[in-house]
Amino acid sequence: MWVFLNGNILREEEAKISPLDRGFTFADGVYEVIPSYDNKRFLFNEHLARLKNSLRQLFIPIPDVLDEMDSILNKLHKKNKYKNQSFYIQITRGIQNTRSHDSEKDLVPTVFIASQKLESNPFKNSPERKGLTIRLEEDIRWGRCDIKTTGLTGNILYAHDPSKEFTDEIIFHKEGIINEGSKSNIFIVLEKKILTPPLDQNILPGVTRNFILDKLQGTDLEVRQEAITLDMLHRSEEIWLTSSTKELQPVYFIGDLELPKKNTQDYIWPKVLNYFNN
Ligand code: PMP
Repeated sequence: MWVFLNGNILREEEAKISPLDRGFTFADGVYEVIPSYDNKRFLFNEHLARLKNSLRQLFIPIPDVLDEMDSILNKLHKKNKYKNQSFYIQITRGIQNTRSHDSEKDLVPTVFIASQKLESNPFKNSPERKGLTIRLEEDIRWGRCDIKTTGLTGNILYAHDPSKEFTDEIIFHKEGIINEGSKSNIFIVLEKKILTPPLDQNILPGVTRNFILDKLQGTDLEVRQEAITLDMLHRSEEIWLTSSTKELQPVYFIGDLELPKKNTQDYIWPKVLNYFNN
């Protein structure tokens, strides 16, 4: 695979980053994931805006190279050949020779971009397949989950606990209120209303979440950004997970509990998935 590192497009094995990079010593950096279908970026401006905002929130200067991002991704897409790809853009505060929480002045941010083959959403072609399984865990993450930092310990910790069963996604809740998944936002359908947690609940402002909210506006479906309790989740008629690489995927199981079964044409989620016409 070909990658981009600090101005150069290189083979992955040629890309080298210093162990003194603050991304390595402090996870002092941000990232963004942009899907690219047939070399066309999906919601590119929205991703770029969130990336810049993440940098601003961490007081990392915005590298000029961000102005050329679409053309860089275009080049990488062509070189990496897969029809559909997801781009991981990582930007750290840069290399610092003396280890210190404080950063030296004039650090140059490290910009790294890699691409991966993007699998198509299996629910698009076979909506009747078995839905995902989720597990609930206490949200132990820090208080700024609105920033897309590479420091994801809180997100990945539970996935590594050997005493826990593997599930497709872990859903975080705090004091009985659902926040989001470890790598996705959540929507539920309850009493025919579509609900998703509001942004002030310390969640990532998902680009896909926002896309769906926009698309649903002005339809006859009732949508609300509203707190979802554990009890509401357990009474849901549908649960959807959303993210840039997964688009929208339905959940059918909370652990061993199965959500009410419906005929495919009675679910709302396939209609919403139709908005993703990549
Ligand atoms: N929440 C978290 C914690 C995530 O990691 C992701 C995936 N980036 C999302 C939500 C979904 O965000 P997006 O739709 O922008 O990919």
